[in-house]
Amino acid sequence: MTDRSLLILPGDGIGPEVMAEVRKIIDWFGTARGISFTVSEGLVGGVAYDAHGTPLTDETMEQAQNVDAVLLGAVGGPAYDNLDFSVKPERGLLRLRKEMDLYANLRPAQCFEALADFSSLKREIVSGLDIMILRELTSGVYFGEPRGIHREGNERVGINTQRYTESEIARAARSAFELARRRSNKVCSMEKANVMESGILWRDVVTEVHAAEYPDVELSHMYADNGAMQLVRAPKQFDVILTDNLFGDILSDCAAMLTGSLGMLPSASLGAPMANGRPKAMYEPVHGSAPDITGQGKANPIACILSFAMALRYSFDLGDEAKRLEAAVEGVLADGARTADLMGPEGGTPISTSEMGDAIVAKLAA
Ligand code: NAD
Repeated sequence: MTDRSLLILPGDGIGPEVMAEVRKIIDWFGTARGISFTVSEGLVGGVAYDAHGTPLTDETMEQAQNVDAVLLGAVGGPAYDNLDFSVKPERGLLRLRKEMDLYANLRPAQCFEALADFSSLKREIVSGLDIMILRELTSGVYFGEPRGIHREGNERVGINTQRYTESEIARAARSAFELARRRSNKVCSMEKANVMESGILWRDVVTEVHAAEYPDVELSHMYADNGAMQLVRAPKQFDVILTDNLFGDILSDCAAMLTGSLGMLPSASLGAPMANGRPKAMYEPVHGSAPDITGQGKANPIACILSFAMALRYSFDLGDEAKRLEAAVEGVLADGARTADLMGPEGGTPISTSEMGDAIVAKLAA
């Protein structure tokens, strides 16, 4: 037993394939660096439905609540597309996020030098890019009431409500300022205070939290539409971007494409600190279960491996080890190792999922 616990939920499709490579990395840290983890494994998504008739059992939910970090692969697939909404694979994921109250979703957009030509933007605009988007994940317009579609006279009306309390804004803001202190110490908060009252409150509360608790961090504010423009015009001006659930959904997808392949993108979702001081946490690649390439050894495991690097940094305060792992990924890419999704127009021979995992372990050991 160690004092670092992980629950691994590989899920469906390529989830188990990419997670197998993360297991190699975890083992390497144990044997080579003396940094070990107590690892348990469970089912989520379609495989959980097949075994138990539910995408997440109460037992697995309970386990997730009692570990330092959950590492999730991916859920979903065509076999489950026609299931009732209440037992669809995604419900397992949503239940984890909701019951663990993971209110801060972190998505880095980092450009690896060897892949700078993969971006849809010019190399000089993205080369060296390293930004982090913090999206509030548990409130806002996706959850606000009233909502629904009803009749008014002879037509239908669709309603959603953007609603934020001060405490919801403040806790997201604190997460962003804490993050910035570990990075380049800058936060840019994005909302639409020019046209939305919830945006005015957002700006006020972020400003108050900043003045009272984080005056050492540089804070700026930007309207979210301008933020979208700036992200594609000059993304390197940002360090941490703090934004709400709706704008964060859009801005983080936009930022993701600055760096190229879906197979490269990690994420973290964090909640309140637990009794041991570590935040509730779940780490997962941004991509889905990729049924089109499942079982073919084609999946890129880097998004999942970089998600584990985020766990090292944010759950276990092992920032130097996270950097070591990220440098190994960077090194392997610089050597020219590419899974099929990273093959450029110049061609070449792609390596398999497990060869990529092995190459990263070898680079760690070098
Ligand atoms: P997807 O991310 O699974 O795949 C989109 C495309 O990217 C596919 O061509 C796929 O082959 C490729 N791709 C994705 N990850 C890759 C990787 N690691 N290496 C190489 N190529 C990769 O999205 P989709 O096709 O829209 O959805 C497939 C299933 O996944 C659906 O059931 C969907 O609901 C589910 N999904 C789950 C999550 C999640 O678990 N968080 C997220 C998105 C979609």
